[in-house]
Amino acid sequence: MNNTNLHSLSVDEVIAQVGIAQAIEIKYVASLLFSYRCTITCKHCLFNCSPKRPDMCVSFEDGVEFIHQLRQTDRAIHIAGGEAMMYYDEMLAICFASNEIGAAPHFFETNASWCVDDDVTRKRYKELKSLGLMGVLISADPYHQAFVPPERRLRAFQWAVEIYGRENVVAGDLSLEQLYELRRIGRDEAHLAEYSRNHPPRFVGRAGEDLAPFSLDRPLEDLANDALWHGGSVGKSCRSEFDPDEMWEIHIDPYGNIQTCCGIVVGNAHEKPLTEWMASGFHTDNELVNMAYQRGPYAYLDLAKEYGYQPRDGYPQKCNLCWEVRKFLHPYFLETFGPAEIYHSV
Ligand code: SF4
Ligand code: SF4
Repeated sequence: MNNTNLHSLSVDEVIAQVGIAQAIEIKYVASLLFSYRCTITCKHCLFNCSPKRPDMCVSFEDGVEFIHQLRQTDRAIHIAGGEAMMYYDEMLAICFASNEIGAAPHFFETNASWCVDDDVTRKRYKELKSLGLMGVLISADPYHQAFVPPERRLRAFQWAVEIYGRENVVAGDLSLEQLYELRRIGRDEAHLAEYSRNHPPRFVGRAGEDLAPFSLDRPLEDLANDALWHGGSVGKSCRSEFDPDEMWEIHIDPYGNIQTCCGIVVGNAHEKPLTEWMASGFHTDNELVNMAYQRGPYAYLDLAKEYGYQPRDGYPQKCNLCWEVRKFLHPYFLETFGPAEIYHSV
C-alpha cells in the first residue's frame, strides 16, 4: 500500500502497518508538552527548556484530558517536553489512566539522559510499553550530544529497537564514533557555529538568542521565501503552520496552551477541546494568529513599529525576524506571544 492509500486509514491502522517512524510522516504529529523543565540546555531549543525551569509538570487530571483531546485528532500522539522522563512517576500515572480509557499516547520523545544503565533503560521502556506506548523518538545532534553522553544515546537506541522494534524507533542508528563526533562539534563554539550555519534550525527561542548571531543578516525582502518549520515556503504568509490540516505539529503544554512550533499560542485546551479549535481554524478568532496566517512576520513587524520597534537592516532568517519582533511585542500581547517560558531565558 502506498502512502496515499495509507493516508485514508486511521493513525492506529497506519502504525500497525508501517510503524511509528513512517506513520508520523503520513499522519503528522500532536504532542503533550509534559514540562518546560529539561535535564539539559540545548542551544537550538525553541521552547527554551532548561534544568533551571520551575519543578513542575502537567497535572494528572490535565495530562489525561489533554492526551484524550490529542487522541481525537487522528495524528500520531506523543509525550514531549522538556524532558518528560524527569517526571517518570507522573508520566506513568497519566499513561496508565489514558490506556484505561483506550487513549494511550503512541510514543514519547526523549534526549536519553536518563539511560544511565541497561536495567533502568530496559525497565522503563517495558513499563511504558505495557501501558500502550508503542515507540520512542530519541534525539541526536550536536546540540543534544554536547550534554548527553554518547553511551547513553547508544544505549537508548539499542534497547528501544529491542523492545519496540526498529520501525517504531524514530532515531538515527548512530555508532559511538558518530555520536562522539556530534559531541565534539557541539562542545566547540567554532564548529558549532559552522554547523548552525550549514544546518540552521529555526532561530526562535534559545536558537534565536544563541545561534542566530552565527549567521549573517539578510535584507527583509530576501527572507520571504525562507522555509517554514517544516518546509512549505509560501512567500510572506505562514499559513501552513497554522492550518489545522497542514500544520505538521500541534502541542498542548502543561497550562493547556495550544501551540505550533513557533511560540505562538493559538488557543487553550481548557476553553474548548482541541478538535473544536481545529474545526473552526486557529486564525478565525485571534487577529494575531490571523496576521501570521496571512502575512507572516511582516505583519508583526508593522505592528511592532506602531509600538516603537526600530527594525534592523536585516535578519538571518524569516523565523528570526518573527522571533525578534515577537520578543518586542510579547509584553503587549502576553496571551498569544507566550507562554513566558519561551520568551524569557533562565
Ligand atoms: S531541545 Fe529537547 S532536550 Fe534540548 S533542551 Fe529543549 S527540550 Fe531539552
Ligand atoms: S515566521 Fe514566525 S509564524 Fe512563520 S513559521 Fe516562522 S516562527 Fe512561525
